[in-house]
Amino acid sequence: MKQHWIGGAWMGQAIREPIDIINPATEEVFEQVLDGSRADADAAVVAANKAFGVWRRMTAVSRGELLHEVADRLKARTEEIARLLTMEGGKPLRENLDEVGWCVACFRYYAELGRNSRGRVIPSIESTQLSMVLKEPYGVVVCIVPYNYPLLLMVWKVAPALAAGNTVIIKPSSITPLATLALSACFEVLPPGTVNIVTGSGEAIGHALVTHPDTHVVAFTGSAGTGRKIACLCAERFKKVTLELGGKDPFVVCEDSDINVAARAVAWAACLNAGQVCTSSERIYVQRTIADRFLEALVNFMGTLRIGPGIEPSTDIGPLARDRYRRNVEEHVEEARKRGAVVLTGGKRPAGFQKGYYYEPTVLANVTSSMRVMTEETFGPVAPVMVYDDFDEAIRLAQGTQYGLGAVLFTRDALKAKTFFEEVKAGTIWINDPLTDNDAGPFGGMKMSGLGRELGLEGLEEFMETKHVHWDFVQQEKPWWYPYKRE
Ligand code: NAD
Repeated sequence: MKQHWIGGAWMGQAIREPIDIINPATEEVFEQVLDGSRADADAAVVAANKAFGVWRRMTAVSRGELLHEVADRLKARTEEIARLLTMEGGKPLRENLDEVGWCVACFRYYAELGRNSRGRVIPSIESTQLSMVLKEPYGVVVCIVPYNYPLLLMVWKVAPALAAGNTVIIKPSSITPLATLALSACFEVLPPGTVNIVTGSGEAIGHALVTHPDTHVVAFTGSAGTGRKIACLCAERFKKVTLELGGKDPFVVCEDSDINVAARAVAWAACLNAGQVCTSSERIYVQRTIADRFLEALVNFMGTLRIGPGIEPSTDIGPLARDRYRRNVEEHVEEARKRGAVVLTGGKRPAGFQKGYYYEPTVLANVTSSMRVMTEETFGPVAPVMVYDDFDEAIRLAQGTQYGLGAVLFTRDALKAKTFFEEVKAGTIWINDPLTDNDAGPFGGMKMSGLGRELGLEGLEEFMETKHVHWDFVQQEKPWWYPYKRE
């Protein structure tokens, strides 16, 4: 059984039943982790605050060098960590090798950005004075992470938080904590307590970390429901919080598109990680003039995707992470079918698997805007397709959601592209290349998809507090009252 990693050492005892870690491809328990308590949260908070005294005093250059060392160590362990990710989450190994590589790049990006970040000198009131704007770390950042990209979404928080001079406590998902715990071998190069990892339920240890008076920022990625609870807890305490929540992203295909390229792009955007991506394209809108040919190409391409255990190099679509997530997908498809949707391919568990939470890549036609598959997160390999006539209608349909995480457009018409990116309220707009992220490009949600941004300069600034320093070099006696100099 794996313990917590606190203050640079393994610690913690099982006072409750440990949490089973299940391989979604075999349904077998292959490891256990501690179901942490408030005492474990307290120990991590003490360690992180102690380390903050050391870490914040290091120069940004030294911190950057250490973050590059973390990246080196992670790179050397790519294969081992990617395998763990596949064992615990089910995602194909190929995708997990990519996830680890991306984490390496993200550590390097913030190692450099941190050492280049600066405040500014502003005009002072008098000639003997200096006024400076400083960017300072907050203290201890709690990083709460979901199951679908356990490392990447953790690193999007940890790398900038550390680069800004904060220390961190990571609370991984109870479904996928193992790869994160394995990263302790990379974090060993940092002063003890700079990074701490505690496992357990959101309700117990997550809540304890969020509400602890000695944690200073909460960086959360997960569902809108959990995000709302955390936002309320932080509001009561005036604690800084960033929220990366769910989505229901639209994908609009215009008639001027290359139909085969667009169909492959939709399949990718809907089925990557078996559809368990916050920016999965979950609502597909296709122009009527090309709808039949597009659907035929999409169904054909979906049929070529190979389902299997993620550990097999040939697998395109692995299992979902848990049976309850598969049941959610089944309920959405069933409701759509009952209300008149047509299943063009998929729509069921694949034959030939005794075990594993598999679901076939699915294309639904004849869907309507009120079906659950078009309103709630499905989080599975399902592409529900609606037809539209003119571009204004497509924009209206794309906007018809409470969420605003991402949106995709396929067109070669520049004016349509401009109208789309100006009018659609979403944190990321992809034109002709869906679901591609960039370390330098801020990522996050509008509307119900969240608050704040990760990645880019904005992702660093979320972890920096602004301080104004007003300094008079001369101790001059002032009259009791003197006016504010405006001119
Ligand atoms: P979840 O909300 O169930 O859990 C996320 C994390 O929060 C877990 O670590 C969980 O243990 C913890 N948690 C749960 N209750 C808590 C509480 N009361 N206090 C503190 N922590 C608590 O989400 P999930 O099912 O793991 O992930 C899927 C969701 O995440 C989807 O909605 C998806 O869209 C979203 N997501 C968003 C992004 C993004 O960047 N916007 C990225 C990936 C996933």
